[in-house]
Amino acid sequence: MTRRPLIIGAGPAGLSAGLELVRRGVTPTILESSSGVGGLARTEGDGDFRVDPGGHRFFTRSEEVSEIWRSLLPEDQWLVVPRSSAMLVHNRFVRYPLMGRDLVRQLGLRDGVYGAGSYAWARLRRQTRIEPRQSNFKEWGRTEFGRRWYELFFDGYVRKTWLADPENIASDWANQRIKPIGWRLSSDASLADQDVFRYPRHGPGQVWDAAADKLRAAGATIETNAMVTRANYKNGTWTLTTERGDVHTGDAVFASMPLRTLVNALRPAPPKYIRSVADNLRHRSLITVAVALSKNYDIPYNWVYTPGANFHAGRIQNYRRWSQHLVPKGWNGTFLGLEYFLLPDQDLWLADAHSLSAIVENDLQQLGFAKPEVEKVMISRMKFAYPIHDPIRDRSVVRIRDYLREHYPSLHPIGRNGMHHYDNQDHAMLSAIRSVGKNFGENVDPWQVNTELSYHEQGLRR
Ligand SMILES: Cc1cc2nc3c(=O)[nH]c(=O)nc-3n(C[C@H](O)[C@H](O)[C@H](O)COP(=O)(O)OP(=O)(O)OC[C@H]3O[C@@H](n4cnc5c(N)ncnc54)[C@H](O)[C@@H]3O)c2cc1C
Repeated sequence: MTRRPLIIGAGPAGLSAGLELVRRGVTPTILESSSGVGGLARTEGDGDFRVDPGGHRFFTRSEEVSEIWRSLLPEDQWLVVPRSSAMLVHNRFVRYPLMGRDLVRQLGLRDGVYGAGSYAWARLRRQTRIEPRQSNFKEWGRTEFGRRWYELFFDGYVRKTWLADPENIASDWANQRIKPIGWRLSSDASLADQDVFRYPRHGPGQVWDAAADKLRAAGATIETNAMVTRANYKNGTWTLTTERGDVHTGDAVFASMPLRTLVNALRPAPPKYIRSVADNLRHRSLITVAVALSKNYDIPYNWVYTPGANFHAGRIQNYRRWSQHLVPKGWNGTFLGLEYFLLPDQDLWLADAHSLSAIVENDLQQLGFAKPEVEKVMISRMKFAYPIHDPIRDRSVVRIRDYLREHYPSLHPIGRNGMHHYDNQDHAMLSAIRSVGKNFGENVDPWQVNTELSYHEQGLRR
């Protein structure tokens, strides 16, 4: 049993590990590299403008997680938000999941009627089995949606948000993540009513700020601006060193820092083959630029995908649809979050605020918003937003996991980047809670927490 646990990272996983340790009577020390808590699910702010850098739905099938969320915020702080998303093509919002009748009605002659013809032809070929088995996303998309609608909606989406050539993505991947066209004629309003999620009034960080308060009240220490750069293990004792030179010792470590950086921080250093598989683990990054516009545009969606090649952003969050409390009281403008997906070594990641604003201005112009309407701009950068995984990287993670298990039984990688797995908050939390259980001798496997694919935040299925 652990008496002096150390936690790396104060995101949902690190804070959940903390809450679970406190529940079992042990107070941890949490080291967080940034200046606040919440990790990717933080709320950033400038005055009364609040930015949710990812657009975080609180949705889970785990009663255990729901119970924790409920315990952290009183009922009146939770909103129930109808989910509504769309795709913006040729300056028209087309509701997503795609509905056949919207497509024909909204897209006009060329894209609507011609698109329906190409869809019907693709279906016919599929039914008569003229079409060979589709092995990649592009082939799959053309068969599922017809060539025209595939190109209009999905080709640009995959290139911009997944940063991948659709011909290099397996068709199974697409099948699990993209919803087919619906042809229902029933009332859409009643369907939309059922599709809701919970959301804290002041954004996701409100929950994690409350968790941090609860932990501090229980005696836990949370140190911010404390990036762990070394993790030494000797005779059962861990010594963590931060970038600014502080040293913390403990008898167990729960680490939500990216798995690759954890492996590189370990001393004695793991063998070369483990370090080299760790070095191949990669992430996609995300820059969210929140823009407050003085004019009120009626955009009836929470988020809008923007597959068009004429602008950079891959998706736009419409924050007032998430919560009216993300903007100052009485303010009646439009508050948007433009999302730029990129690799950490791309020029855009290094771009200063000036170059970034030029890109954002162009995007706003393409969307039909005028520059003088911009009241405020806030930039939020997430270097390790999405762990990239594929069958080869998944095998690398298993090798690292097995190595760490064998050589460092009191080291527990937890959460989305800690386990290099595409987790939503609930799974990140459960992996942390189960890891604490394991450390207390329970027969559980935290790596088995998230195995149900369709349930992930994996693209257009969300
Ligand atoms: C665009 C986007 C949309 C999302 N939408 C949803 C959604 O709708 N619903 C949902 O439930 N989830 C969503 N998620 C996922 C959710 O954000 C994550 O599942 C969750 O934040 C993972 O928690 P974590 O603690 O594992 O990791 P993180 O949130 O990444 O927290 C890790 C923490 O560790 C810190 N850290 C890293 N390295 C070090 C170090 N060396 N030393 C000290 N500290 C360190 C980081 O600063 C960070 O605070 C979304 C994510 C993104 C990017």
